[in-house]
Order: sequence, then C-alpha cells, then structure tokens
Amino acid sequence: MNQRGTGAGVISAGSMPRNHLPEITPENAFFWRAGATGTLRFNRCQACGHFVHPPLPICPVCKSREVRDEPVSGMGTVLTFTVNRQVWEEGLEAPYVIAIVGIDEQPGLRLTTNIINCTIEEVRIGMRVRVLFEHCEDVWLPLFAPE
Ligand SMILES: [Zn+2]
Repeated sequence: MNQRGTGAGVISAGSMPRNHLPEITPENAFFWRAGATGTLRFNRCQACGHFVHPPLPICPVCKSREVRDEPVSGMGTVLTFTVNRQVWEEGLEAPYVIAIVGIDEQPGLRLTTNIINCTIEEVRIGMRVRVLFEHCEDVWLPLFAPE
C-alpha cells in the first residue's frame, strides 16, 4: 500500500527519520541532553541576557565569556515548515513535517525540528507549539507539538 500523499494520520516521533543524530561536543552536550529532565535549555549570556544558539563560549552581541545554559519555557511558534513526502529509505514513514520554530524567549532564537502529534493538514505558520523530547541513544531530540 502506498502511504505517500495520504497525510491523514497523526504524525508521531517514531515516524521520523533518525539515522543522522547530532554529533555531541563538550559545547553542545547540555543542549542535546537537556531533554533528560524534560526542559529545553539554551546558552545565555550572563552579561547582556542574549540567548546564544548554536552554543558558543562567547556572546556574539557583547563578547562576554560569561555564557551559561539556562532553561526556557519550551514554548514557540511555527515560523515556516515543509512537508517531506519522500520515503528516503526502507522503514521510514512519510509524510512528516520539518519546521523552523521560533522560541518565545528571544526573536531570532530558532530551532529546525519536526512537528508531531497532529496531522499534516493541521500544521500552520503561526501555530503555537510546545517542546517534547524523543530519546535516541545518548541524545534527546527536541520536537514540537501543538499546544
Ligand atoms: Zn552578551
């Protein structure tokens, strides 16, 4: 049976392609493992308050090195998205949604992620979403679902 293009079902984390997990470095480990406690975290400059992502040891705004990871609300808005309908390899399900989510705490703080727990047809630009995590090996992937 050809599943492509139906789009009728609810997308779940298990239907996402997970053959390319992020490379964990000392700088980004906190980000990819924050989901172990269920809380999204970003590096934040302690001098000016700017959130720094991808993780850097120095603030790009004020050049301070007082950068530490802090929890955020996990709330965001879908800025743009695309529906992938291609089954790239055996065992993957399609379609699924790749989205850029703007994080509430700061304009320009964005994640490229997947939208799950809704149907393809329900995803809209401007939709309010909340983070949840999929545990894969030693990383917790931040995904988003409708609030
Ligand atoms: Zn700063």
